[in-house]
Amino acid sequence: MSNLQILAPFNGWCSPLEEVPDAVFAGRMLGDGLAIDPTNGSLLAPCAGEIITLPASAHAVSIRAAGGIDVLIHVGIDTVQLGGRGFEARAQPGTTVRAGAELLRFDLDVVARAAKSLMSPIVVTPMDGLTLRQCRAEGPVAAGDLLFEVTGVIAVAKQRGLVNGSGADASGADASGAARPGDAKAAQTLIMTLRQGLHARPAALLAQRARSFTAQTTLAAHGRTANARSVVAIMALGVGQGEEISIQATGADAVRAVAAIVAAIQEALRMEAVAAHGAPVTADSVIGPCAGGEMAINSASTSCPADSPVAGTTLGLLRGVIAVAGFAVGRATRIERREIPVVEAGTGPALESAALERAQADVRLSLGRVAKTGGVTRREIIAAHLEFLDDPQLNETAQNLIAAGKSAGFAWRTATRSCIASLDALDNSRLRERGDDLLDVESHVLLELAGEARPVTIPLPERAVLIVDDLLPSELTALDQKRLLAICLGRGGVTSHVAILAAAMEIPMLIGLGNAVRNVASGSTVIVDAEAGTLQTAPTPAAIDTAHTKVESRLARRAKMQAAAQTDCYTLDGTRIEVFANLGNVQDAATAVVNGAEGCGLLRTEFLFLDRETAPDEAEQLATYQDIAAALGSRPLILRLMDVGGDKPLRYLPLPAEENPALGLRGVRTALARPDLLRTQLRAALRVQPSGSVRLLIPMITDIAEVLAVRGIIDELRAELGIHHPIALGAMIETPAAALIAPALIREVDFLSIGSNDLTQYTLAMDRGHPQLAARTDALHPAVLRLVAVTANAGTAAGKMVAVCGSVAADRYAVPLLLGLGARELSVVPAAVPAIKRQIRALRIEDCHELAMKCLDLASAAAVRALVEETIGPGENMQ
Ligand code: PEP
Ligand code: MG
Repeated sequence: MSNLQILAPFNGWCSPLEEVPDAVFAGRMLGDGLAIDPTNGSLLAPCAGEIITLPASAHAVSIRAAGGIDVLIHVGIDTVQLGGRGFEARAQPGTTVRAGAELLRFDLDVVARAAKSLMSPIVVTPMDGLTLRQCRAEGPVAAGDLLFEVTGVIAVAKQRGLVNGSGADASGADASGAARPGDAKAAQTLIMTLRQGLHARPAALLAQRARSFTAQTTLAAHGRTANARSVVAIMALGVGQGEEISIQATGADAVRAVAAIVAAIQEALRMEAVAAHGAPVTADSVIGPCAGGEMAINSASTSCPADSPVAGTTLGLLRGVIAVAGFAVGRATRIERREIPVVEAGTGPALESAALERAQADVRLSLGRVAKTGGVTRREIIAAHLEFLDDPQLNETAQNLIAAGKSAGFAWRTATRSCIASLDALDNSRLRERGDDLLDVESHVLLELAGEARPVTIPLPERAVLIVDDLLPSELTALDQKRLLAICLGRGGVTSHVAILAAAMEIPMLIGLGNAVRNVASGSTVIVDAEAGTLQTAPTPAAIDTAHTKVESRLARRAKMQAAAQTDCYTLDGTRIEVFANLGNVQDAATAVVNGAEGCGLLRTEFLFLDRETAPDEAEQLATYQDIAAALGSRPLILRLMDVGGDKPLRYLPLPAEENPALGLRGVRTALARPDLLRTQLRAALRVQPSGSVRLLIPMITDIAEVLAVRGIIDELRAELGIHHPIALGAMIETPAAALIAPALIREVDFLSIGSNDLTQYTLAMDRGHPQLAARTDALHPAVLRLVAVTANAGTAAGKMVAVCGSVAADRYAVPLLLGLGARELSVVPAAVPAIKRQIRALRIEDCHELAMKCLDLASAAAVRALVEETIGPGENMQ
């Protein structure tokens, strides 16, 4: 095996790679080679070898030559978007061809008209230890002419364990992943059911799982392969819904690695389904900002370039897409984003590499600190940013550039920009929107390298309506939220993280307003109607007056409802109903109090310590619980013991892959399997002051022995801590088993709390996160209502409280039924408290009971909803 000769695949004009109008190729991110501007439309094999990739779009082909050297020929730039138009494959992937064999044909006119450029790179990828020589000079070239020679083939083949020419498998695994004798191999092919395909979050989940195995794992789709440890590589596969993806692993734990990736895809499906119902994590989705509130995140996936056709203007009226619904009148405000300067040349690879690693470590720390102060949404977004920071492909590209003499800043920026360029080339708006996240991570690191502090708060004038081309998540979180009334973007996407954050912050947001946003005068009064999708940039004084009146009446209505919510809640006939809030963090507690919550009916403690590698110790847990108790004032705090497993994985507590996670180690089962973690949590909870203010709730109970076991540990710890008063202990009713034994169970506890989300899933045998079953997984199914009735009756008979803390408690159709069946406490998302209290105050228990009894005899959830609607009238805006 000597040097490998690469021949011109077509006639044309040969140029260096730098001239290719694409940062990935021009920056040699994929490898080294030359480019040809073709003058005929027949692509011939540049060397002998096996065709490794020739996607359906037939716009590119890669060949694996002897020694495992891969050569990619990419016809034109951005040609994947043609979806095969103008291209015709003349060979099949997997076949072995001789040099000069015709691999594909393309119509020069069609491709030239649609592509960004016809310039076609021919590159060796990856270069590893290879070098090119005898590179052809710029000028005309004929098919079959020598383009360049690849040297170092033997050494690289040896390094890859391929010296005998056995060839790596077609997975495209990197050198370290080449098969070793005796290595196990595993593979599985699936059809992608994720609605948005493999976008950032599932990709991050997969990469994270892949990294926990030693096996070299690759994903393959569309004829391309990706290192499963790299988020960027996975995303760049561009796998959409309904498309096939293969998982291949080689190594001692290959079988487990493939199973873990499959499990991660299932987990992502569950997360997607939950997110699709308005509450990415908390599952309290029935009434949130989306259900009749003033703010709602638009669920359609739309991404708007600045020249988007949705952007339009007539007489000072710009039309956009509603990302977060709402209405505001305020002053047009801009914030400037400056490009952070970087020098290209480095001061030596060792120094630059260390500087990059140090900056990344500092950013990791500061992002971790920010995550602690935010809600679940912000934490999720930061988790995605941390994945980018650790991405092996990004880091490899950056380190290669550093090794080639570039500065850390230049290398990091080039690496992130090339990833953004690849995402931009994808025909998937959701993936393109992740470019903003990469830009954000890029600037974090560049600022750190430059020794500059990111501004903690970006000042805004009073009543600011932010009008900019685009906005990064970190820019939004740095803005002074109290002064920010609305956001209007020239570009943007409704599924972008910045839109998700804006929805969580309840800030109306329009996107896709086009380049015209640049002409809006700073400081001018504008009206944002994020219900009609318009921005009035030059409203008349009369229009401004009307808009002010509209805003004031809305605010007054909201304030009235909030004020009314501050007092205890009674039905019309004087029955006391406690309206509590479900919390996931300290901020939620503050919001709950403002909205009139009378306590916390469910603190989802598993959400307090997500995305971390180590379990929180007793002191850390105590501090967090104490903060929440303090935010609640003297209101009761029902702290649910960690509900881990199933759809709630914890990074620091990896559980074995289960075939049926919803039926496996979940809730109290996990807690009892890890008594060390349970004891730490219980000790922290018991130490919250004032002593006894915390009540404890056990998740996923199926039998009394579980309650007795937890009670036993609590009593031991009370003795250890010298706590003499009793601690209120409740059981969650989330399984039909628990509901059916409620009369016996209630003897062992102080209260019961119905978790309708799980109770519905287990009663109807429908995964709560299954997208196709979402409409049918309805807690108003008479079977679920009957279990609620059994539970509530047990409570009434024992004179103990029965609460409902699942999402159904915030469903206006469910409220009369739950009260009619005997529930006396409802715990809902903080934002829903005022509306639920208002509804309860207009109900009479007797009427509710009568209605509930009729519903128990109906045959379906739809019939229940129809009867309730007939009785209480159609839904109205509750917030
Ligand atoms: C429930 O199952 O209804 C519940 C409140 O618990 P979670 O949604 O956290 O599983
Ligand atoms: Mg549950």
